[in-house]
Amino acid sequence: MKKFMAVFMAVVIMLTVAVPAFAQKGDVTPVIVVGGVGTRPYYQNGGTQDEIRVFPPTPDVAEIVTIAAMGIVKTIVTRDSNCISEMVGKILESVFEKFKCNADGDSKYENVASVYYPLSIDNYEFDFYNEVPEVAIAGTVAQSIGAENTYFYNYDWRLDPCANAARLDKMIGQAKQKAGSDKVTLIPCSMGGVQTLAYLNEYGSDDIEKIIFMSSAHKGLLFVSEMFTGNIEFSQKNIFKYLSDFLNLGSEDIDDAFDMLCMYFGKAPYLALTFKIIDHYAKKLNNETTYASLRRVFGSMPGMWAFVCDEYFDDARAFMTDETTSQALLDKIDYYHNNVGSRADDILLDAKENGVSICVFSHYNRGSIPVTPTANVEGDYLIETPCTSIGATVAFTGETLGDDYVQANYCGGHNHISPDRKIDASTCLFPDSTWFIKYEEHVGCKYGSDFAQLVKELNDFDGQPTVFDFEKYPQFLKTDMKSMTLSPVTAKEPLTISGILSSIFAS
Ligand SMILES: [Zn+2]
Repeated sequence: MKKFMAVFMAVVIMLTVAVPAFAQKGDVTPVIVVGGVGTRPYYQNGGTQDEIRVFPPTPDVAEIVTIAAMGIVKTIVTRDSNCISEMVGKILESVFEKFKCNADGDSKYENVASVYYPLSIDNYEFDFYNEVPEVAIAGTVAQSIGAENTYFYNYDWRLDPCANAARLDKMIGQAKQKAGSDKVTLIPCSMGGVQTLAYLNEYGSDDIEKIIFMSSAHKGLLFVSEMFTGNIEFSQKNIFKYLSDFLNLGSEDIDDAFDMLCMYFGKAPYLALTFKIIDHYAKKLNNETTYASLRRVFGSMPGMWAFVCDEYFDDARAFMTDETTSQALLDKIDYYHNNVGSRADDILLDAKENGVSICVFSHYNRGSIPVTPTANVEGDYLIETPCTSIGATVAFTGETLGDDYVQANYCGGHNHISPDRKIDASTCLFPDSTWFIKYEEHVGCKYGSDFAQLVKELNDFDGQPTVFDFEKYPQFLKTDMKSMTLSPVTAKEPLTISGILSSIFAS
């Protein structure tokens, strides 16, 4: 009897101790935040005495001044406008030399690399309040799932995303094993979207529970697509819009008023003259000499090619490559385009079909980089809103869809038009799980903000979250940069002088 009691007690103890421990272990789905471009610098000879930062570049100022001076003198003497492009190209190549890829699309210098974090984030010291968004997001979700189950994946974004996928797969395997979980959740930020799609193509979606896309380039971005097809162009309106958005003062009315002022001053004679001069030289930049430098510096980075949208790809390939381009490079960019870039929607729909929950964040009412003809498309400073939302119909900068606009798709009878009539989300790939945040920066999501709280709630949510599941967080939100709060986008009254004045005094 004693023996039976001892065995019985042992079983009870095992059940009470071991079961919750097992339950807890399998309960947590680890999270991997897939970073974007430029989250960490690149170094040559990193960690040694000869360490040099190569990205962002540490330019040799004396060399650049010399190149510029010689270029200007040459332009004046010869009156040949090609000299300006030559000068800009030489500067570009001097600044990025150590960061270049070789003809085959691999790093030109073997000892150049970024900083990587192969272990969970509890192994590193991060100050989440002062970190890049990717790390701040990792810090936020770790509040629920533990830092020991949270990872920040950085990679060499110059290289082939399909080759990079092997490293992501390794991290996924490691995270699963450590947590005793079947699956992980991915939070791709910016270019992280490209890496995630490449991963899904190479390894499938069986290991993935949820994906929360943050300002992601899924199928490319217009800015790079235009540059790679030879469309450098400046317009006053787009430059002013971009500048005014950078000076955003945190109030919607002040922001709009500032836009109006900028548009007005853009028409002022002296500024118009300044822009005529800029335009004059910008046009001179739009020539073969400039594009030849662009090809040499960025054209051999397979990662940059992943940013070329499907509908631009054939033109870009014809424009950026020729019979001297290495077959190894062509194989990489063609493979990505044929299997991932042109099939992005199918890859995501297949993942969803396979049970993966998918959420998308897309931001608007910030400018797009004002150097191409499509810079009047709404964006978040870097990536255009139609790209980050996977297919939203978006009014051009400073415009609305119009009062007569009718929602393109029925989508269960839901209203998917934003109250400010800037966006129709019914044309998105995932209209019911795509959130739009007005005024938020690219990726954004500061530590301690409402936005970060929303991402944490989506990550904690059991199953597929939708824009109808959170009373506080409907589909169209706007961010207040000062208080870091989110509130629903509302229909806007036309600006009045008294409205502007009262908002200035209120802030
Ligand atoms: Zn819907």
